[in-house]
Amino acid sequence: MSRRAEVLAEMGIKPVWRLKEEKSIEERKSIDEWIPLKAAVSGCTKCGLHKSRTQTVFGVGDESAEWMLIGEAPGAEEDRLGDPFVGQAGKLLDNMLAAIGLARDDNVYICNVLKCRPPGNRNPAPDEVAKCTPFLLRQIELIQPKLVVAMGRFAAQTLLNTDASIASLRGRVHQYAGRPLIVTYHPAYLLRNLPDKSKAWADLLFARKTMSAL
Ligand code: SF4
Repeated sequence: MSRRAEVLAEMGIKPVWRLKEEKSIEERKSIDEWIPLKAAVSGCTKCGLHKSRTQTVFGVGDESAEWMLIGEAPGAEEDRLGDPFVGQAGKLLDNMLAAIGLARDDNVYICNVLKCRPPGNRNPAPDEVAKCTPFLLRQIELIQPKLVVAMGRFAAQTLLNTDASIASLRGRVHQYAGRPLIVTYHPAYLLRNLPDKSKAWADLLFARKTMSAL
């Protein structure tokens, strides 16, 4: 028995054991809710995309972020690395976020509508979207973002259940899953269409203004 323990014992004080990094009830609850969701996604075989994926791409960032950015589906690099928005498109996104004072992992969460890569980067099929959407809705439920940003035509049209053009959806505040939603271009599209970068910048400024009013 250590000297300290002996002294405490002499004083009739029993030791109080504490875990070194004891988690708060809120932290524990949050972990308990995320673990089954992540496990369900990584083992999911609900649609045919599980056959061709290398791995699922769940999402990254701050799990209590105010900003939630949602893209279409993983591409080849994302399928290989397991993270959304990597490579050149990811770098562009990070630079754009930095320009309005944001960073992934810091008040931003980033994911896709689909968690598995469609082969050959084809558009996701309606049944794949229908089967994967409950995962996205649960992510939104756990994160409770103040603002959702749909990146790219597919994400915007899918989340808003419309076939309207991205041009007509930009610059307005929509609603998705009880949250305000703003539409902008996908960074991969911007790499191919550099003149539209200024429009994406305007969208981000609009998003920031909208967020500050929430
Ligand atoms: Fe499951 Fe979604 Fe992957 Fe389809 S895309 S297998 S629904 S995780």
